[in-house]
Amino acid sequence: MSKLSNIINFIKDVISPKYCYSCKKEWHFLCPQCLQTIKKHQPYCYICKDKNAGFEVHEKCKKNVFFDKIIVYCHYRDNTIKKLIKDAKFYGRQEILDNFWLGLSNLFFENEIVLNKNNYIIIATPMHFLRKIKRWYNHSEVLAESISKKTSILYYHNMTKKIKYTKQQSKLSKNDREINLKDSFQINKKYLELIKWKNIIIVDDVISTGSTINHLAKLLKDNWANKVIWLVIASD
Ligand SMILES: [Zn+2]
Ligand SMILES: [Zn+2]
Repeated sequence: MSKLSNIINFIKDVISPKYCYSCKKEWHFLCPQCLQTIKKHQPYCYICKDKNAGFEVHEKCKKNVFFDKIIVYCHYRDNTIKKLIKDAKFYGRQEILDNFWLGLSNLFFENEIVLNKNNYIIIATPMHFLRKIKRWYNHSEVLAESISKKTSILYYHNMTKKIKYTKQQSKLSKNDREINLKDSFQINKKYLELIKWKNIIIVDDVISTGSTINHLAKLLKDNWANKVIWLVIASD
């Protein structure tokens, strides 16, 4: 972490000190004891919601679905988790993410048989640059970088781009979502060779809507990515 961000974090701690969102103890956003008690997500298929080993999408569920698995750490309906993620995302409390990258890294290896790390690439869900300016940073990039360091799988910043400033998907109808997303992502040309036959791990805090992730997954598959795997903190 740079000197500047250390100073910023120090100022933030003075203005609004850290306390555990669950038990209110000081110094942590989620103290180690409370982190232990967070209910973990059971491996399931994201499409039909039935249990499935390795968080794989069943073959029978893959009709027009372009991603292979969505590995989820915990439940978004947990109020502590919901509040932590919101504050990390909208209020710039970046250190909140420190509670999750280790768990996510371990969870990845528990649910994916990795024979050769060189066949994998980590990216973050791309954010339009205007949204990034609005929020100061892309929390998914911060998370992806930490997971890359822990897993020794290479992280590529800016491999994919969000080129259309889309309205928030959750506020739209299903039809409007499709139109809203059309051609909204792009792969940076210099990486087109690199992604061929690779397994792409996309890191994010939550899975927002199925159509967003499917659009990005389709783009990667159209450009010869082998597997597309999401690795996220929480989902319902
Ligand atoms: Zn606590
Ligand atoms: Zn299924």
